[in-house]
Amino acid sequence: MSFGNAHNSLKMKYTSEQEFPDLSKHNNHMSKVLTPAMYEQLRSKQTPSGFTLDDVIQTGVDNPGHPFIMTVGCVAGDEETYEVFKELLDPVIQDRHGGYKPTDKHKTDLNPANLKVLPQYKPTDKHKTDLNPANLKGGDDLDPDYVLSSRVRTGRSIRGISLPPHCSRGERRAVEKLSSEALATLSGDLKGKYYALKDMTEAEQQQLIDDHFLFDKPVSPLLLAAGMGRDWPDARGIWHNDNKTFLVWVNEEDHLRVISMEKGGDMKAVFNRFCTGLTKIENLLKERGHALMWNDHLGYVLTCPSNLGTGLRAGVHVKLPNLSKHDTFEEILKRLRLQKRGTGGVDTAAVGGTFDISNADRLGFSEVELVQMVVDGLKLMVEMEKKLEKGQSIDDLMPAQK
Ligand code: ADP
Ligand code: MG
Repeated sequence: MSFGNAHNSLKMKYTSEQEFPDLSKHNNHMSKVLTPAMYEQLRSKQTPSGFTLDDVIQTGVDNPGHPFIMTVGCVAGDEETYEVFKELLDPVIQDRHGGYKPTDKHKTDLNPANLKVLPQYKPTDKHKTDLNPANLKGGDDLDPDYVLSSRVRTGRSIRGISLPPHCSRGERRAVEKLSSEALATLSGDLKGKYYALKDMTEAEQQQLIDDHFLFDKPVSPLLLAAGMGRDWPDARGIWHNDNKTFLVWVNEEDHLRVISMEKGGDMKAVFNRFCTGLTKIENLLKERGHALMWNDHLGYVLTCPSNLGTGLRAGVHVKLPNLSKHDTFEEILKRLRLQKRGTGGVDTAAVGGTFDISNADRLGFSEVELVQMVVDGLKLMVEMEKKLEKGQSIDDLMPAQK
């Protein structure tokens, strides 16, 4: 398994054909887009921090496909990656995000009440998001007999610091210091503590993973091949509030992953806490003089192009033993713009008819719109499951393409 070191200036002595990766067995977005001519055009370029084309594509070269999802096959090493390698990344983004064009602007439902931008920030630093849970319709009534847990997460990147595939030890430690100090000031329901991975016992770590609170050990080939396992566990950790309903992952796939979760089907409460906590964290970072990576085309700039836009994945663990065996299951997911995963994370298969079902899109829709899709879609799928249980047809419930 590659650990993602693709830096080698001597390779320019070889021709582009001699260096072009073997993509013949590949099925990811990058492999569909990258041509020898494009490789030739981009291979000598690098971002100001030194991220090259080979660094961008290595994870997609080493992981031809994925058993459960269509992967992107490339990562960003810094904010500028998306600009410097746009000939490759624009079509990948277009492919992954349902035709999102280089000229498109990320859809936002601007809610002035949420724009608590401090005066020292330029207008371009305004984060035009829809973090207003009052705009969500329903969501507090997903049947807990089927919906076992609800979760909303997003990522945030700190401007001026390289992203996990490329960051140095010093940069990574700076992210850890900044975020753990900022998070330590949260109070009330959000009061919590930072736990550095290196200070945890093996058993403590495994318990948090098994309980679905903590990211996995660096075993995912997608993560390793992108160079994100370097120096593990240095400067990685998890912050969480006392009852583990609001959590922040530090230096996994993104600088920060902000998560709200709880058992049962009250997605409204989960989204509520997500919005409150995330807004607080953003303001704490701003008060400390840090801007987030954001622009009006890509939205929040994150490591994986699949997470651009809102970075938001709202999902539930849900029991669908009958529906998941039905011929129309994949088609229903597609029409509702939802994605399925196993309950142990993106690299796991579903067992016993229980799935992680979440929004498939991140870009081009606002936060509330995405959570709404999950809430509405799940309600319908649970209704279908109940009908199938009773041996009834679900033909009349088949949704139209969203
Ligand atoms: P992410 O997109 O947040 O990185 P992953 O698929 O990598 O998600 O899973 C990360 C962890 O989060 C796994 O342990 C997974 O079981 C847990 N998880 C994801 N969704 C839920 C949910 N709705 N309820 C409980 N745990 C969840
Ligand atoms: Mg993950």
